[in-house]
Amino acid sequence: MKRTLIHNATLINEGTRKQGSLVIADGNIAEILTEGRPLSAPCDETIDATGCYLLPGVIDDHVHFRDPGLTHKADIFSESRAAAAGGVTSIMDMPNTNPPTTTLEALEQKQALLAEKCIVNYSCYFGATNSNYTLFPRLDKTRVCGIKLFMGSSTGNMLVDRMDSLRHIFGGTDMLIAAHCEEQEIIHRNTEKYKAAYLEEAQIPLNKHPYIRTVQACYSSSHLAVQLATEAGARLHVLHISTAKELPLFSHAPLDEHKRITAEACVAHLLFDIRDYKMLGACIKCNPAIKRQADRDALRRAVVEGQIDVIATDHAPHLLTEKSGGALRAASGMPMVQFSLVSMLQLADKGIFTPELVVEKMCHAPARLFRIDRRGFIREGYHADLVLVRPHTHWQVTRDKIWSKCGWSPLESRTFDWQIEKTFVNGHVIYDHATGVDDTCRGEELRFHA
Ligand SMILES: [Zn+2]
Repeated sequence: MKRTLIHNATLINEGTRKQGSLVIADGNIAEILTEGRPLSAPCDETIDATGCYLLPGVIDDHVHFRDPGLTHKADIFSESRAAAAGGVTSIMDMPNTNPPTTTLEALEQKQALLAEKCIVNYSCYFGATNSNYTLFPRLDKTRVCGIKLFMGSSTGNMLVDRMDSLRHIFGGTDMLIAAHCEEQEIIHRNTEKYKAAYLEEAQIPLNKHPYIRTVQACYSSSHLAVQLATEAGARLHVLHISTAKELPLFSHAPLDEHKRITAEACVAHLLFDIRDYKMLGACIKCNPAIKRQADRDALRRAVVEGQIDVIATDHAPHLLTEKSGGALRAASGMPMVQFSLVSMLQLADKGIFTPELVVEKMCHAPARLFRIDRRGFIREGYHADLVLVRPHTHWQVTRDKIWSKCGWSPLESRTFDWQIEKTFVNGHVIYDHATGVDDTCRGEELRFHA
């Protein structure tokens, strides 16, 4: 059996930072050599990691790889390559594709596509509709990461807007329900107001987006979701929290098996605020909208204090040509999976987070929350999903470095001081800064403890 030694790294794992080495054998972490522990047997290959940090690979619980049906924007192969280049070793794909993942047949088709095309590890959500909750008992809880519930419409029409359906959904499953929360009535009212105020719809400027999809729209919907989940005792994960106002709905309690209601923040809401519309315009238009600086800062604090459990990307690529037409017509969503880890480590450099906290929220927490089998931690016997990052480098995001099919990023021209050196998935090096992505291997399907 081939043994690979990652030699002399700084391991960041489970709140600690230790100098040491690690042995990969048969796709797993075979030995962790810290605190002077010697190798048990010689290795066939040594990777010198001097000066680098070794982290568990990022688990992104919220991506839209647009496959099947929207593959002019992105596909599983292209976006999993971008994930690999970003140190992301597992992804959970959303169901608003074409066809949507709302039937057992579509689910089977999505799982087959992921197996065929995804170079990182994967799972996918089953999408709720107003009427398909009768299928929930037939889902394999060890293979499907959760139920995606749109309590607010976005790309693809999967809105669940009937109260009786919502009660059936929350009362009908012990699977994790991941919810997009924005109250449709409020958005509709604001849309009509802005349409009346401008001669042409296309003239409504981008910076009105957060005044159409408002704080109140988010709060009202998140509040309802938390209320329904509490009544039913359901497991609720509210996706992409974007406002300070929603944060008191969530508990500071540590993420363990007793925490049934959890929250996600996305990289864009942690990086940008309303002032950025001036420079970046539609490139940072997403749902829920990027809001005020006070919201961004409150989200950052909530990551530290614990109301936000998970950091993900909501990686949602569109072509740049689909990004025109102002606040109402420009497509919502942006590619982010390739730069999520370096963006958050950059916030650690600014003293906002620590690298240990970034690892907790991007690697450990998704593994705990979704009860993923043997991933998300650097532990002996776990799958060797790892990322080697080099600090104190200085580089700039330019178009030629982008792996996503859409070919643009809202982070273009930004500089970073952290570089993804190597990404390991199940022990294979699938990204190397020197040589690029190796897309010959395929990821494995994530397994969940029910
Ligand atoms: Zn999303």
